[in-house]
Amino acid sequence: MSRLAVVCGGSRGIGGAVSRLLAERGCRVAVVSRDRDAAGAAVASLRGVDHVSLSCDVSNELEVKKSFETIQKTCGDVSYLVNAAGINRDALLLRTKPEDMLAVLHTNLLGSMLTCRAALRSMLRTQGAAIVNIGSVVGLRGNAGQCVYSASKAGLQGFTLSLAKEVASRNVRVNLLAPGFIRTDMTAGLEEEEAVGVRSVPLGRLGEPEEVAQAALFLLESPYVTGQVLVVDGGLQLVM
Ligand code: NDP
Repeated sequence: MSRLAVVCGGSRGIGGAVSRLLAERGCRVAVVSRDRDAAGAAVASLRGVDHVSLSCDVSNELEVKKSFETIQKTCGDVSYLVNAAGINRDALLLRTKPEDMLAVLHTNLLGSMLTCRAALRSMLRTQGAAIVNIGSVVGLRGNAGQCVYSASKAGLQGFTLSLAKEVASRNVRVNLLAPGFIRTDMTAGLEEEEAVGVRSVPLGRLGEPEEVAQAALFLLESPYVTGQVLVVDGGLQLVM
């Protein structure tokens, strides 16, 4: 049977592109997002058969547990897990409400921890299992106006490297992908020519979700790569 890939945040944006690419490569894909209709529509658009959609808030422990039980029961063991579910509530720290801090940390950091934990036993049973967590270049470099978001992504880096060490002996690989500015709903508010930072991207443009998906596929399929941070940012990190 073909590999099963769970893509959290797979209904659109970067996760949507990852879902499409994995389906094209013959994986069965389980798309997870809060909006049931959007997840269902994403699955309906995938090439091939046997894909499923699940409505789940990754920051909710019970929902994550139930979703992965359902995946196990209906689809079997998980080979690939991609954590692309994420939100931002960008503002200067003095203008950031504590509830927004919690929402960002719970979705971006706790959410990935919960899904990794829920998938891991199943992944230990499969050959060549791999996890890709989607961090951000601002988690590596910091960015004014993104203190909380950057902290969530820096935390995700520490989590990824530690988990890579924990599970390497069981042949599960764990890597972090750190995109720069990518054209998705998350950056839809940024006018390309106006956005601070975008102008200074050495490659001179926003990245496309498909370009991040290519890098995710590389990490998932590279059997001797674990505990790495792969930056996909058009060179932005060079000038940050
Ligand atoms: P989008 O806003 O386009 O998509 C976000 C996805 O995450 C959607 O599928 C959304 O579905 C899902 N999601 C959000 N919150 C939750 C939740 N609590 N539980 C389950 N699913 C959730 O974002 P991007 O594609 O741009 O971002 C994907 C990842 O890449 C994020 O982690 C983001 O931080 C990161 N990133 C993005 C960059 C960019 O420039 N776009 C740059 C660097 C990193 P739904 O709303 O239905 O839940």
